[in-house]
Amino acid sequence: KPTRIGLAGLAVMGQNLALNIAEKGFPISVYNRTTSKVDETVERAKKEGNLPLYGFHDPESFVKSIQKPRVVIMLVKAGAPVDQTIKTLSVYLEKGDCIIDGGNEWYENTERREKAMAELGLLYLGMGVSGGEEGARYGPSMMPGGSFEAYKYIEDILLKVSAQVPDSGPCVTFIGKGGSGNFVKMIHNGIECGDMQLIAEAYDVLKSVGKLSNEELQKVFSEWNKGELLSFLIEITADIFGIKDDKGDAYLVDKVLDKTGMKGTGKWTVQQAAELSIAAPTIESSLDARFLSGLKDERVEASKVFKAGGFGDILTDQEVDKSKLVDVRQALYASRICSYAQGMNLIRAKSIEKGWDLKLGELARIWKGGCIIRAVFLDRISRLMTGILILQTFLWTQSFRRRLLSDSLRGEGWYALLSTQVSAPQVLSTFKIAKQSKISVPISRRVQLEQNSPLSIITSAENFMLGGASINSFW
Ligand code: NDP
Repeated sequence: KPTRIGLAGLAVMGQNLALNIAEKGFPISVYNRTTSKVDETVERAKKEGNLPLYGFHDPESFVKSIQKPRVVIMLVKAGAPVDQTIKTLSVYLEKGDCIIDGGNEWYENTERREKAMAELGLLYLGMGVSGGEEGARYGPSMMPGGSFEAYKYIEDILLKVSAQVPDSGPCVTFIGKGGSGNFVKMIHNGIECGDMQLIAEAYDVLKSVGKLSNEELQKVFSEWNKGELLSFLIEITADIFGIKDDKGDAYLVDKVLDKTGMKGTGKWTVQQAAELSIAAPTIESSLDARFLSGLKDERVEASKVFKAGGFGDILTDQEVDKSKLVDVRQALYASRICSYAQGMNLIRAKSIEKGWDLKLGELARIWKGGCIIRAVFLDRISRLMTGILILQTFLWTQSFRRRLLSDSLRGEGWYALLSTQVSAPQVLSTFKIAKQSKISVPISRRVQLEQNSPLSIITSAENFMLGGASINSFW
């Protein structure tokens, strides 16, 4: 008997999504270029409850095992591997069949492929999938865009396989035409980068200024996760503080090299922000932090110069009123809202440019569960992000952010900390130039300003420029 759907590409995402689909009662055929992964997946399907999953070692019998019109989800590396997989499969597909790319693909590649497939009479979808391994297995957030007809073929599957949120339904919706599904997933990842950086900076204040131990940090983040900050990333951050290294005698977080890379979607988001002339400062500076984190040797050098410039003691030895640290929670909340609003504004601008007519409220709704940026305050964003209100939200967050910044520069709060990131690259380049030309270090005006505020006592010089990069490296 033919299966209902096929899935090609059985690495982390594909394997788990296939098992999820089978578990929801949809018989599935699976295929992978390297056939050992097919056997591995079949084995898992047996172990995890004799799920209706059938493995194939060659593309022809894989495609022919699927009921017509056939639908095949691909979960392979973005770029050339997608083209190669399409080539391999399309030989056996027939008019009316459909291919879905579930990877993190550049949206223009999806639009190019959709056109090429249409010439063969095939339908095409670019579907962002978020939630990593766990999400794929137990319920991701899914962002399908492209052919609406193709979406309708598999809507019943997606509605069951995606994460289910009690008051707002399954975390999937038809996003729009063309490459809109990939574009929205790309922005989701950009927001995720900003979010991680903000959390890392908040951690840095608590640890370096507040001198909180890992046990205390775990308590603080767990407490935060009960209120307006409730979200997946805050939850796993709290958990991180409890993890010990292999030997069990030291905390893993203190052993992580504070150096991290990126996979591409964050960079694309920032490039798009520039193309569209949309301000996305949090997302942009999160990318800067990643670039800078790679310059570990330079940062170590710069911190020596910083200390030699007389700022070392100020940075580490000041007494801190721990009750003030409560403000970090509010600063983080405000900054996160700004960051999500930046992402939404990018989507809105692109939607206008491309005529996609994207529903921002719907996007916030499908991000409420399954995905990495799921957060309770998306409810609020979901309510606000419709029509003209988007503009007001943006204005509100911008002016709110400015007010918080000026408060802290006057010494009345911690709020600016979460935006000092913007000045970090300038600080570093100042140090680098100073070092190369062997002149005494001119501290930037920005830093001088901060010397007069509670911000002056932030952290070690090296971390000041990054904001808890070790936490960020965890993701
Ligand atoms: P990878 O991105 O690591 O890709 C590995 C898969 O691609 C394998 O099935 C591999 O086959 C296949 N592949 C690579 N090159 C080729 C080729 N030339 N021809 C055919 N197949 C090829 O897998 P992931 O599961 O991590 O990710 C899949 C997609 O989902 C990516 O686009 C990724 O960005 C995205 N994604 C990943 C997330 C994650 O947490 N990992 C989260 C959300 C999205 P073989 O085994 O034969 O090498």
